Amino acid sequence: MRDKSTDRLVLGISSCLLGERVRYDGTDKLQPQLVAGLSRYFTLLPVCPEAGAGLGVPRPPIKLVIEPASQALHAVLVDNPAQQVTEPLTNYIRTCVDTLDGLSGFVFKARSPSCGLHDAVIESGTQQRPGPGLFATALTRRYPELPVADELELAHADRFESFCRRVYQGAGRRFPVSV
Ligand code: SF4
Repeated sequence: MRDKSTDRLVLGISSCLLGERVRYDGTDKLQPQLVAGLSRYFTLLPVCPEAGAGLGVPRPPIKLVIEPASQALHAVLVDNPAQQVTEPLTNYIRTCVDTLDGLSGFVFKARSPSCGLHDAVIESGTQQRPGPGLFATALTRRYPELPVADELELAHADRFESFCRRVYQGAGRRFPVSV
C-alpha cells in the first residue's frame, strides 16, 4: 500500500505508540524517537483494535485466558474474568484486518493482549505464558509475509534499520539511505 499523495509506503502502527490517547486508562504510549524515525520513510496508519471495537476510552483493562474445558482463547475483563469481550473484539479485528490489505508492514505495541506480537500474557489456569495478542495473531495469519515488529525490537538501531529495509524490500523498492 502506498500513500497516493506522497508515493510513500504505508506502515500500520498501534495507535497508542503514535501518541493517540486510546489506552484503557485514557493515556498513550507515545514513542517519539520511533515515530520520528519511521516518519522519515513511511506514512503511518494508526490502528487501535480495542477502541475500534467500541470497548471505550477509558475502558476496563482486559487479559487473555484459555478456557479449561474448550481450550478456547478469550479476552476477559481483568477485574471481572466472567465478563468476556472476545466477540466484539474479534468481530472488529476480522473486519479491520480485511481493510489493511496492501499495507507494507506493521509496528505493534508490545505486551498488549490485542497488539502484543510475542509477549501478551496468556493465562491458563494458574499458569501464564507469553504469546501473541488477538489482533497481532489475526494480522500475521492473514498476511504471513508482512514485515512486522514491536517497539521494543525497534528500539535497537540495527533492528530498526533492518526492519525498514525489509519493508522496502517487501514492496519491491530500494531502501533510500542508511538510517
Ligand atoms: S496496545 Fe493496541 S489495543 Fe492497546 S491501546 Fe495500543 S493500539 Fe489500542
